[in-house]
Amino acid sequence: MATYRELLAQVKTEIDEVGAAEARERHGAALFVDVREREEWEEGAVPGAIHVPRGQLESRIEGLVPDRSTEIVLYCAGGSRSAFAAKALGELGYEHVSSLTGGFTDWKRNGFQVETPQSLTPDQRRRYSRHLLIPEVGEAGQERLLASRALLIGAGGLGSPASLYLAAAGVGTLGIVDADVVDDSNLQRQIVHSTDSLGEPKVLSAKRTLEALNPDVEVKAYEERLTSENVERILADGWDVIVDGADNFPTRYLVNDASVWHGIPVVHGSIYRFEGQVTVFKPGSAGSVAGRAGDARPRAGGPCYRCLFPTPPPPELAPSCAEGGVLGVLPGIVGSLQANEALKLLLGIGESLQGRLLLLDALGTTVDEVAVQRDPSCPVCGEHPTITEYVDYVEFCQGVQR
Ligand SMILES: [Zn+2]
Repeated sequence: MATYRELLAQVKTEIDEVGAAEARERHGAALFVDVREREEWEEGAVPGAIHVPRGQLESRIEGLVPDRSTEIVLYCAGGSRSAFAAKALGELGYEHVSSLTGGFTDWKRNGFQVETPQSLTPDQRRRYSRHLLIPEVGEAGQERLLASRALLIGAGGLGSPASLYLAAAGVGTLGIVDADVVDDSNLQRQIVHSTDSLGEPKVLSAKRTLEALNPDVEVKAYEERLTSENVERILADGWDVIVDGADNFPTRYLVNDASVWHGIPVVHGSIYRFEGQVTVFKPGSAGSVAGRAGDARPRAGGPCYRCLFPTPPPPELAPSCAEGGVLGVLPGIVGSLQANEALKLLLGIGESLQGRLLLLDALGTTVDEVAVQRDPSCPVCGEHPTITEYVDYVEFCQGVQR
Protein backbone atom coordinates (compact mmCIF):
# COMPACT_ATOMS: atom_id res chain seq x y z
CA MET A 1 0.00 0.00 0.00
CA ALA A 2 1.33 3.45 -0.93
CA THR A 3 1.73 6.23 1.62
CA TYR A 4 0.27 9.66 0.93
CA ARG A 5 3.73 10.94 0.02
CA GLU A 6 4.30 8.14 -2.43
CA LEU A 7 0.85 8.57 -3.95
CA LEU A 8 1.39 12.31 -4.38
CA ALA A 9 4.79 11.73 -5.95
CA GLN A 10 3.25 9.19 -8.31
CA VAL A 11 0.39 11.55 -9.29
CA LYS A 12 2.87 14.35 -9.95
CA THR A 13 4.57 12.18 -12.58
CA GLU A 14 1.24 11.77 -14.36
CA ILE A 15 0.17 15.41 -14.63
CA ASP A 16 1.48 18.70 -15.98
CA GLU A 17 2.69 21.21 -13.44
CA VAL A 18 3.33 24.88 -13.93
CA GLY A 19 5.31 27.31 -11.76
CA ALA A 20 3.92 30.61 -10.54
CA ALA A 21 5.80 32.74 -13.07
CA GLU A 22 4.66 30.67 -16.01
CA ALA A 23 1.12 30.47 -14.65
CA ARG A 24 1.06 34.24 -14.49
CA GLU A 25 2.01 34.41 -18.16
CA ARG A 26 -0.93 32.16 -18.97
CA HIS A 27 -3.26 34.26 -16.81
CA GLY A 28 -5.94 35.65 -19.07
CA ALA A 29 -5.66 32.85 -21.60
CA ALA A 30 -6.15 29.95 -19.21
CA LEU A 31 -9.06 29.43 -16.84
CA PHE A 32 -7.85 29.34 -13.24
CA VAL A 33 -9.80 26.97 -11.03
CA ASP A 34 -9.38 27.30 -7.28
CA VAL A 35 -10.00 23.94 -5.58
CA ARG A 36 -9.52 25.10 -1.98
CA GLU A 37 -12.21 25.27 0.68
CA ARG A 38 -14.52 28.26 0.93
CA GLU A 39 -12.75 29.82 3.94
CA GLU A 40 -9.45 29.79 2.06
CA TRP A 41 -11.01 31.21 -1.10
CA GLU A 42 -12.67 34.05 0.76
CA GLU A 43 -9.35 35.29 2.10
CA GLY A 44 -8.01 35.88 -1.37
CA ALA A 45 -7.70 34.25 -4.76
CA VAL A 46 -6.19 34.62 -8.20
CA PRO A 47 -8.19 37.30 -10.06
CA GLY A 48 -10.74 35.81 -12.45
CA ALA A 49 -10.47 32.32 -10.97
CA ILE A 50 -13.56 30.22 -10.45
CA HIS A 51 -14.00 28.40 -7.18
CA VAL A 52 -14.84 24.71 -7.10
CA PRO A 53 -13.87 22.99 -3.86
CA ARG A 54 -11.90 19.79 -4.46
CA GLY A 55 -14.75 17.67 -3.12
CA GLN A 56 -17.16 18.98 -5.75
CA LEU A 57 -14.77 19.16 -8.66
CA GLU A 58 -15.77 16.03 -10.54
CA SER A 59 -19.50 16.63 -10.12
CA ARG A 60 -19.47 20.30 -11.09
CA ILE A 61 -16.74 20.82 -13.64
CA GLU A 62 -18.69 19.60 -16.68
CA GLY A 63 -21.42 22.09 -15.94
CA LEU A 64 -19.00 24.94 -15.40
CA VAL A 65 -16.52 24.10 -18.15
CA PRO A 66 -18.29 22.07 -20.84
CA ASP A 67 -15.46 22.48 -23.37
CA ARG A 68 -12.83 19.88 -22.56
CA SER A 69 -10.21 21.62 -24.69
CA THR A 70 -10.23 24.64 -22.35
CA GLU A 71 -6.81 25.43 -20.92
CA ILE A 72 -7.13 25.06 -17.16
CA VAL A 73 -4.72 25.95 -14.37
CA LEU A 74 -5.74 24.32 -11.10
CA TYR A 75 -4.47 25.62 -7.83
CA CYS A 76 -4.85 25.00 -4.11
CA ALA A 77 -2.79 26.36 -1.23
CA GLY A 78 0.41 24.42 -1.81
CA GLY A 79 0.04 22.34 -4.96
CA SER A 80 -1.00 18.95 -3.56
CA ARG A 81 -4.79 19.02 -3.76
CA SER A 82 -4.52 20.59 -7.20
CA ALA A 83 -2.21 17.78 -8.31
CA PHE A 84 -4.85 15.18 -7.47
CA ALA A 85 -7.46 17.44 -9.03
CA ALA A 86 -5.43 17.64 -12.25
CA LYS A 87 -5.29 13.87 -12.44
CA ALA A 88 -9.07 13.68 -11.97
CA LEU A 89 -9.75 16.23 -14.72
CA GLY A 90 -7.42 14.37 -17.05
CA GLU A 91 -9.45 11.24 -16.40
CA LEU A 92 -12.62 13.19 -17.22
CA GLY A 93 -11.13 14.00 -20.62
CA TYR A 94 -9.88 17.54 -20.04
CA GLU A 95 -6.95 17.93 -22.40
CA HIS A 96 -5.01 20.96 -21.21
CA VAL A 97 -4.85 20.86 -17.44
CA SER A 98 -1.96 21.85 -15.25
CA SER A 99 -1.48 22.19 -11.53
CA LEU A 100 0.18 25.24 -10.01
CA THR A 101 3.25 24.06 -8.10
CA GLY A 102 3.51 25.82 -4.79
CA GLY A 103 -0.13 26.82 -5.13
CA PHE A 104 -1.64 30.12 -4.09
CA THR A 105 1.00 30.51 -1.39
CA ASP A 106 3.73 30.69 -4.00
CA TRP A 107 1.63 32.94 -6.25
CA LYS A 108 1.27 35.42 -3.40
CA ARG A 109 4.92 35.13 -2.38
CA ASN A 110 5.85 36.23 -5.91
CA GLY A 111 3.81 39.38 -5.39
CA PHE A 112 1.34 38.52 -8.14
CA GLN A 113 -2.10 40.06 -8.15
CA VAL A 114 -4.63 38.78 -5.65
CA GLU A 115 -8.29 39.67 -5.21
CA THR A 116 -10.78 39.06 -2.46
CA PRO A 117 -13.68 37.24 -4.09
CA GLN A 118 -17.27 38.23 -3.62
CA SER A 119 -18.97 35.85 -1.31
CA LEU A 120 -22.42 35.45 0.13
CA THR A 121 -23.38 37.50 3.14
CA PRO A 122 -24.72 35.70 6.24
CA ASP A 123 -28.23 36.83 5.23
CA GLN A 124 -27.77 35.36 1.79
CA ARG A 125 -26.44 32.12 3.24
CA ARG A 126 -29.66 31.75 5.17
CA ARG A 127 -31.93 32.86 2.33
CA TYR A 128 -30.37 30.47 -0.16
CA SER A 129 -29.49 27.70 2.29
CA ARG A 130 -31.60 25.10 0.46
CA HIS A 131 -29.69 25.90 -2.72
CA LEU A 132 -26.33 25.74 -0.97
CA LEU A 133 -27.14 22.23 0.21
CA ILE A 134 -27.46 21.00 -3.38
CA PRO A 135 -24.01 20.13 -4.78
CA GLU A 136 -25.12 21.14 -8.29
CA VAL A 137 -25.83 24.67 -7.06
CA GLY A 138 -23.76 25.32 -3.95
CA GLU A 139 -22.09 28.59 -3.14
CA ALA A 140 -20.51 29.06 -6.57
CA GLY A 141 -23.83 28.35 -8.29
CA GLN A 142 -25.67 30.79 -6.05
CA GLU A 143 -23.09 33.49 -6.76
CA ARG A 144 -23.52 32.73 -10.41
CA LEU A 145 -27.29 33.17 -10.14
CA LEU A 146 -26.85 36.46 -8.31
CA ALA A 147 -24.63 37.65 -11.16
CA SER A 148 -27.05 36.36 -13.82
CA ARG A 149 -29.44 38.34 -15.96
CA ALA A 150 -32.72 36.95 -17.28
CA LEU A 151 -35.05 38.83 -19.62
CA LEU A 152 -38.75 38.02 -19.39
CA ILE A 153 -40.96 38.80 -22.35
CA GLY A 154 -44.34 39.48 -20.80
CA ALA A 155 -45.48 39.89 -17.20
CA GLY A 156 -48.63 37.88 -17.75
CA GLY A 157 -49.66 34.29 -17.12
CA LEU A 158 -46.27 32.74 -17.88
CA GLY A 159 -44.11 35.66 -16.81
CA SER A 160 -45.77 35.76 -13.38
CA PRO A 161 -44.68 32.36 -12.01
CA ALA A 162 -41.43 32.40 -13.97
CA SER A 163 -40.40 35.78 -12.57
CA LEU A 164 -41.47 34.90 -9.03
CA TYR A 165 -39.34 31.74 -8.97
CA LEU A 166 -36.36 33.39 -10.69
CA ALA A 167 -36.52 36.23 -8.18
CA ALA A 168 -36.88 33.83 -5.25
CA ALA A 169 -33.89 31.86 -6.57
CA GLY A 170 -31.78 35.01 -6.50
CA VAL A 171 -31.28 35.65 -10.19
CA GLY A 172 -29.72 39.05 -9.65
CA THR A 173 -31.15 41.02 -12.55
CA LEU A 174 -34.54 40.45 -14.12
CA GLY A 175 -35.67 42.45 -17.13
CA ILE A 176 -39.39 42.52 -17.86
CA VAL A 177 -40.89 43.77 -21.11
CA ASP A 178 -44.63 44.46 -21.12
CA ALA A 179 -46.79 47.38 -22.22
CA ASP A 180 -50.05 46.34 -20.54
CA VAL A 181 -51.69 47.47 -17.34
CA VAL A 182 -53.14 45.11 -14.75
CA ASP A 183 -56.75 44.29 -15.49
CA ASP A 184 -59.09 42.39 -13.17
CA SER A 185 -59.45 39.60 -15.73
CA ASN A 186 -55.69 38.97 -15.37
CA LEU A 187 -55.77 38.04 -11.71
CA GLN A 188 -57.23 34.56 -12.24
CA ARG A 189 -53.69 33.47 -13.26
CA GLN A 190 -51.19 36.35 -13.27
CA ILE A 191 -50.08 35.87 -9.69
CA VAL A 192 -47.27 38.43 -9.66
CA HIS A 193 -50.01 41.10 -9.62
CA SER A 194 -52.74 41.68 -7.08
CA THR A 195 -56.01 43.50 -6.66
CA ASP A 196 -54.04 46.44 -5.26
CA SER A 197 -52.24 46.88 -8.56
CA LEU A 198 -55.30 47.13 -10.82
CA GLY A 199 -54.72 49.79 -13.45
CA GLU A 200 -50.99 49.90 -12.79
CA PRO A 201 -48.48 49.07 -15.54
CA LYS A 202 -47.70 45.35 -15.25
CA VAL A 203 -43.94 45.91 -15.25
CA LEU A 204 -44.18 48.22 -12.24
CA SER A 205 -46.57 45.95 -10.37
CA ALA A 206 -44.24 42.99 -11.05
CA LYS A 207 -41.17 45.00 -10.05
CA ARG A 208 -42.73 45.87 -6.69
CA THR A 209 -43.76 42.27 -5.97
CA LEU A 210 -40.43 40.76 -7.03
CA GLU A 211 -38.21 43.25 -5.21
CA ALA A 212 -40.31 42.78 -2.09
CA LEU A 213 -39.91 39.02 -2.39
CA ASN A 214 -36.13 39.32 -2.73
CA PRO A 215 -34.17 42.54 -2.20
CA ASP A 216 -31.14 40.91 -3.87
CA VAL A 217 -32.96 41.20 -7.18
CA GLU A 218 -32.95 44.28 -9.37
CA VAL A 219 -35.88 44.46 -11.78
CA LYS A 220 -35.40 46.48 -14.95
CA ALA A 221 -38.84 47.46 -16.18
CA TYR A 222 -39.39 48.02 -19.89
CA GLU A 223 -42.88 49.47 -20.13
CA GLU A 224 -43.23 48.91 -23.85
CA ARG A 225 -44.18 46.26 -26.34
CA LEU A 226 -41.16 44.51 -27.81
CA THR A 227 -40.71 45.66 -31.41
CA SER A 228 -38.10 45.66 -34.16
CA GLU A 229 -37.36 49.25 -33.15
CA ASN A 230 -36.58 48.65 -29.47
CA VAL A 231 -35.31 45.06 -29.40
CA GLU A 232 -31.65 45.99 -29.97
CA ARG A 233 -31.74 48.61 -27.23
CA ILE A 234 -33.24 46.16 -24.76
CA LEU A 235 -30.84 43.35 -25.67
CA ALA A 236 -27.90 45.75 -25.42
CA ASP A 237 -28.44 45.68 -21.66
CA GLY A 238 -26.96 42.16 -21.77
CA TRP A 239 -28.98 39.03 -20.98
CA ASP A 240 -27.92 35.46 -20.32
CA VAL A 241 -31.30 33.91 -21.07
CA ILE A 242 -34.69 35.01 -22.40
CA VAL A 243 -37.90 33.60 -20.95
CA ASP A 244 -40.54 33.99 -23.63
CA GLY A 245 -44.03 34.34 -22.26
CA ALA A 246 -45.36 36.34 -25.19
CA ASP A 247 -49.04 36.02 -26.05
CA ASN A 248 -48.79 36.82 -29.75
CA PHE A 249 -46.99 35.52 -32.81
CA PRO A 250 -45.25 38.69 -34.06
CA THR A 251 -43.43 38.94 -30.72
CA ARG A 252 -42.48 35.26 -30.74
CA TYR A 253 -40.90 35.52 -34.19
CA LEU A 254 -39.15 38.73 -33.25
CA VAL A 255 -37.77 37.21 -30.03
CA ASN A 256 -36.59 34.23 -32.01
CA ASP A 257 -34.73 36.15 -34.69
CA ALA A 258 -33.10 38.50 -32.18
CA SER A 259 -32.03 35.64 -29.92
CA VAL A 260 -30.50 33.67 -32.80
CA TRP A 261 -28.51 36.69 -33.94
CA HIS A 262 -27.39 37.46 -30.39
CA GLY A 263 -26.76 33.86 -29.37
CA ILE A 264 -29.05 34.08 -26.34
CA PRO A 265 -30.98 30.93 -25.37
CA VAL A 266 -34.76 31.23 -25.20
CA VAL A 267 -37.00 29.28 -22.85
CA HIS A 268 -40.27 29.03 -24.70
CA GLY A 269 -43.68 28.41 -23.14
CA SER A 270 -47.19 28.55 -24.51
CA ILE A 271 -50.63 27.75 -23.13
CA TYR A 272 -54.19 27.23 -24.34
CA ARG A 273 -57.13 26.07 -22.23
CA PHE A 274 -55.68 22.88 -20.66
CA GLU A 275 -52.67 22.46 -22.93
CA GLY A 276 -49.16 23.72 -22.42
CA GLN A 277 -45.91 23.51 -24.37
CA VAL A 278 -42.38 24.12 -23.18
CA THR A 279 -39.03 23.90 -24.93
CA VAL A 280 -35.62 25.54 -25.09
CA PHE A 281 -34.29 27.18 -28.22
CA LYS A 282 -30.54 27.41 -28.12
CA PRO A 283 -29.46 27.42 -31.73
CA GLY A 284 -25.84 27.28 -32.59
CA SER A 285 -24.65 26.22 -29.20
CA ALA A 286 -23.26 22.90 -28.25
CA GLY A 287 -22.24 23.77 -24.75
CA SER A 288 -21.74 27.39 -23.84
CA VAL A 289 -24.17 28.51 -21.22
CA ALA A 290 -24.09 32.23 -20.86
CA GLY A 291 -24.23 33.17 -24.53
CA ARG A 292 -23.88 36.91 -24.46
CA ALA A 293 -23.46 38.67 -27.79
CA GLY A 294 -20.41 37.97 -29.90
CA ASP A 295 -21.47 34.53 -31.02
CA ALA A 296 -23.86 35.75 -33.64
CA ARG A 297 -23.46 33.23 -36.44
CA PRO A 298 -25.14 30.01 -35.44
CA ARG A 299 -23.48 26.66 -35.87
CA ALA A 300 -24.95 23.21 -35.56
CA GLY A 301 -27.12 22.90 -32.50
CA GLY A 302 -30.73 22.83 -31.43
CA PRO A 303 -33.63 24.21 -33.43
CA CYS A 304 -35.02 27.73 -33.26
CA TYR A 305 -38.69 28.71 -33.13
CA ARG A 306 -38.79 29.09 -36.91
CA CYS A 307 -37.43 25.56 -37.38
CA LEU A 308 -40.56 24.31 -35.59
CA PHE A 309 -43.02 26.86 -36.89
CA PRO A 310 -41.80 28.27 -40.22
CA THR A 311 -45.06 30.18 -40.58
CA PRO A 312 -47.56 31.37 -37.98
CA PRO A 313 -50.82 29.43 -37.85
CA PRO A 314 -53.98 31.00 -39.26
CA PRO A 315 -55.78 32.99 -36.57
CA GLU A 316 -58.74 30.60 -36.27
CA LEU A 317 -56.28 27.87 -35.21
CA ALA A 318 -54.42 30.10 -32.79
CA PRO A 319 -56.83 31.84 -30.44
CA SER A 320 -55.27 33.73 -27.57
CA CYS A 321 -56.16 33.21 -23.91
CA ALA A 322 -58.41 36.24 -24.22
CA GLU A 323 -60.35 34.46 -26.96
CA GLY A 324 -60.05 30.82 -26.01
CA GLY A 325 -59.62 30.88 -22.24
CA VAL A 326 -57.15 29.06 -20.05
CA LEU A 327 -57.32 27.18 -16.77
CA GLY A 328 -55.67 29.56 -14.32
CA VAL A 329 -53.20 27.09 -12.89
CA LEU A 330 -51.87 25.97 -16.28
CA PRO A 331 -49.60 28.98 -16.84
CA GLY A 332 -48.44 28.41 -13.26
CA ILE A 333 -47.18 24.97 -14.24
CA VAL A 334 -45.75 25.98 -17.61
CA GLY A 335 -44.16 29.17 -16.29
CA SER A 336 -42.58 27.20 -13.43
CA LEU A 337 -41.15 24.73 -15.94
CA GLN A 338 -39.73 27.72 -17.81
CA ALA A 339 -38.10 28.98 -14.62
CA ASN A 340 -36.63 25.53 -14.09
CA GLU A 341 -35.11 25.50 -17.58
CA ALA A 342 -33.79 29.04 -17.17
CA LEU A 343 -32.14 28.20 -13.85
CA LYS A 344 -30.47 25.12 -15.32
CA LEU A 345 -29.16 27.13 -18.25
CA LEU A 346 -27.81 29.82 -15.92
CA LEU A 347 -26.18 27.26 -13.65
CA GLY A 348 -24.95 25.07 -16.50
CA ILE A 349 -26.43 21.95 -14.93
CA GLY A 350 -28.75 19.16 -15.95
CA GLU A 351 -30.23 18.47 -19.33
CA SER A 352 -32.19 21.24 -20.97
CA LEU A 353 -35.30 20.89 -23.09
CA GLN A 354 -33.23 21.84 -26.13
CA GLY A 355 -34.40 19.62 -29.00
CA ARG A 356 -37.40 18.41 -27.01
CA LEU A 357 -40.90 19.86 -27.01
CA LEU A 358 -42.79 19.05 -23.83
CA LEU A 359 -46.54 18.75 -24.30
CA LEU A 360 -48.60 19.02 -21.17
CA ASP A 361 -52.28 18.13 -20.89
CA ALA A 362 -53.64 19.41 -17.61
CA LEU A 363 -57.06 17.82 -18.09
CA GLY A 364 -55.71 14.27 -18.33
CA THR A 365 -52.56 15.14 -16.37
CA THR A 366 -50.26 13.69 -19.00
CA VAL A 367 -46.91 14.84 -20.32
CA ASP A 368 -45.62 13.91 -23.75
CA GLU A 369 -42.36 14.78 -25.34
CA VAL A 370 -41.53 15.05 -29.02
CA ALA A 371 -38.05 15.40 -30.45
CA VAL A 372 -37.60 18.55 -32.47
CA GLN A 373 -34.71 19.16 -34.79
CA ARG A 374 -32.93 22.05 -36.34
CA ASP A 375 -33.98 22.63 -39.94
CA PRO A 376 -30.83 23.14 -42.07
CA SER A 377 -32.96 25.21 -44.47
CA CYS A 378 -34.38 27.43 -41.70
CA PRO A 379 -34.51 31.03 -42.98
CA VAL A 380 -32.85 32.33 -39.79
CA CYS A 381 -30.65 29.67 -38.19
CA GLY A 382 -30.11 27.49 -41.30
CA GLU A 383 -27.02 27.00 -43.43
CA HIS A 384 -28.00 29.75 -45.86
CA PRO A 385 -30.20 32.17 -43.97
CA THR A 386 -32.53 34.32 -46.05
CA ILE A 387 -33.73 36.49 -43.17
CA THR A 388 -30.77 38.40 -41.77
CA GLU A 389 -32.41 41.51 -40.38
CA TYR A 390 -35.61 42.41 -38.59
CA VAL A 391 -38.76 42.34 -40.69
CA ASP A 392 -42.21 43.75 -40.06
CA TYR A 393 -43.43 40.98 -37.79
CA VAL A 394 -47.05 42.06 -37.65
CA GLU A 395 -47.19 42.11 -41.42
CA PHE A 396 -45.33 38.79 -41.60
CA CYS A 397 -47.92 37.14 -39.36
CA GLN A 398 -50.85 38.76 -41.16
CA GLY A 399 -49.42 38.01 -44.60
CA VAL A 400 -49.49 34.32 -43.91
CA GLN A 401 -53.01 34.50 -42.56
CA ARG A 402 -54.46 35.87 -45.75
ZN1 LIG B 1 -34.20 27.77 -37.15
